[in-house]
Amino acid sequence: MKAMVYQKSCIQCGLCASVCPEVFSMRPGLPAQAQGDDIPTDLQISAQAAAEGCPTDAISIQ
Ligand code: SF4
Repeated sequence: MKAMVYQKSCIQCGLCASVCPEVFSMRPGLPAQAQGDDIPTDLQISAQAAAEGCPTDAISIQ
């Protein structure tokens, strides 16, 4: 399972990095970034919660 942020859709609200900081990170003035590696099993629920909470559906988890 991997996460991806559609950069053009991200409004930089910071929710994903708050919900799952191990997978999503923010830098000032830039869209969120997802770490590109496989998401460890123990983080998959919080990564999924971040994706579901994203106000612009900018996160894809596959
Ligand atoms: S929750 Fe969505 S809109 Fe907000 S920072 Fe993360 S990817 Fe961007």
